[in-house]
Amino acid sequence: PAANLAEFPWARSYPTDIDWHADIPTAPLHRLMDDAVARFGDRPCIDFMDKRYTYAQIGALVDKAARGFQDMGVGKGSKVGLFLPNTPYFVICYYGVLKAGGTVVNFNPLYAEREIAKQIEDSDTDIMVTLDLAVLYGKIAKMLSQTRLKRIVVARMADILPFPKNWLFPIVKRKDVARIPSDDRHLAFSRLVANAGRPAPVEIDPDEDVAVLQYTGGTTGVPKGAMLTHANIYANAIQSRLWCTDARPGHERMLGVLPLFHVFAMTGVMNLPLVLGAEMVLVPRFELDNVIRLIQSKKPTLFPAVPTIYTAIVNHKDIGSYDLSSIRFCLSGGAPLPVEVKHAFETKTGCKLVEGYGLSESSPVATANPMYGVNKAGSIGIPLPGTVIEIVSLDDRSRLVPPGEKGEVCIRGPQVMKGYWKRPGETAEALADGRLHTGDVGYMDEDGYTFIVDRIKDMILCGGYNVYPRNVEEAIYLHPAVAECVVAGVPDPYRGQTVKAYVKLAEGHGLTREDLAEFLRDKLSPIEIPKHLELRDELPKTMIGKLSRKALLEEEEARRSGR
Ligand code: AMP
Repeated sequence: PAANLAEFPWARSYPTDIDWHADIPTAPLHRLMDDAVARFGDRPCIDFMDKRYTYAQIGALVDKAARGFQDMGVGKGSKVGLFLPNTPYFVICYYGVLKAGGTVVNFNPLYAEREIAKQIEDSDTDIMVTLDLAVLYGKIAKMLSQTRLKRIVVARMADILPFPKNWLFPIVKRKDVARIPSDDRHLAFSRLVANAGRPAPVEIDPDEDVAVLQYTGGTTGVPKGAMLTHANIYANAIQSRLWCTDARPGHERMLGVLPLFHVFAMTGVMNLPLVLGAEMVLVPRFELDNVIRLIQSKKPTLFPAVPTIYTAIVNHKDIGSYDLSSIRFCLSGGAPLPVEVKHAFETKTGCKLVEGYGLSESSPVATANPMYGVNKAGSIGIPLPGTVIEIVSLDDRSRLVPPGEKGEVCIRGPQVMKGYWKRPGETAEALADGRLHTGDVGYMDEDGYTFIVDRIKDMILCGGYNVYPRNVEEAIYLHPAVAECVVAGVPDPYRGQTVKAYVKLAEGHGLTREDLAEFLRDKLSPIEIPKHLELRDELPKTMIGKLSRKALLEEEEARRSGR
């Protein structure tokens, strides 16, 4: 059930032009595609390396894919994996599976074989869609003998990327293309869609039927599948649409650099454009210079990304000489946006950058700073229409804490998942009292804006004090020599844990631990000042580009145990 706005007293005073009372309807998720085709049929839907498709063309391919999947036996309860980088195939197969009645399981195309095998088994995936590139197909081919996987649908890159002309991203060469055996375990995408495109109608219960199994480390770190229903994801697309108050239907262009298998891009880059009739400019791999050139040539108007991407743009040496003025609006999410980066980005590019927040379990968007109205740097903003944010005491889950006090950030709303696949215990824990417990510590100010302090599990316990890495990182970012940084707790014989900073320097700068400590002296308490500093040429990132504290801690652990 949708959250009741009356429970949310701040909403009335929000200084924005958002329609708080708009209805947030429930429908099968593929209705987004059908409606977009009906409303925007001859408008451009996808631009992939200069090849453009209209909504009518993509919609027709979705119908054919749906019929094709049904002919392979896909229906309610079937799980179909997508192991695909950003290409039109992703959009077509995602909606094709849904329209056939099945559930999409998103796979990270950078996963190692062991991780893929585990996710196939856990999710009950029987069919996988991938590309004929050796790096992708090679891994999936092995799954036929090692896991329950039964069939592979293989899309040919050559069908959409003319060889050898590929001026923008020289990523595909002939030798990268895998040879696909012709047996009944393989089906070419071109065969999948070789039909009249009339899928049999399927009765979908939007509140119950799972549209997507979205794997996430969640709050405990063990990968598990968040069951996102048709209603969850449909609602979040509509809620996001309500946020874009000045969007011009049929005339926006979305820059799609985030990978679509990630929940942020699924809603922000793929589903929201359908509601807006926007064109998605799909980019299969983030490469800074190419993306900046692409902004010049394609003139996108919307640019959702993660903080490291905005940081990279800010630190680009010639950024002042490029014209990025087509972009009206940038939304940062997925990880904290350092205040320093927000300011530098807005000053250097002239583009508006606002921060939002969400997680896989909430389809994902829960809050954002308004496009117009009060925008607070360092805050994740206010809840989307129909969403309630509550801050619950860390000691007593039944107590809501007053403004200014820290607690666990909880979410209620139509976008909150049904539960974790096959994990009733963890589901009950995460959804206790009808709220999604996010595992993030935060507080709400008097205006109803929320600030994330940190993840509960990233808190550093240092000599009896709680140190929040985010707070230390914010202070370190103020130093002009710092391009990127991660702060983490490492074992310490006296204090249990102590604070360590990993820093990537801006070009042409140096930094010692003593310099840094001196710089931070009036900004942090002594216990928070990093005892260790490690300079790195690069900091590890997750596939979507979040700085990875987990990878750094694993390295520390390996070093300590002499591995
Ligand atoms: P995932 O489900 O893997 O996308 O991760 C969701 C987690 O990312 C959240 O629980 C937060 O810890 C973090 N996160 C997302 N957006 C923000 C943000 N704007 N500020 C701080 N942390 C964020």
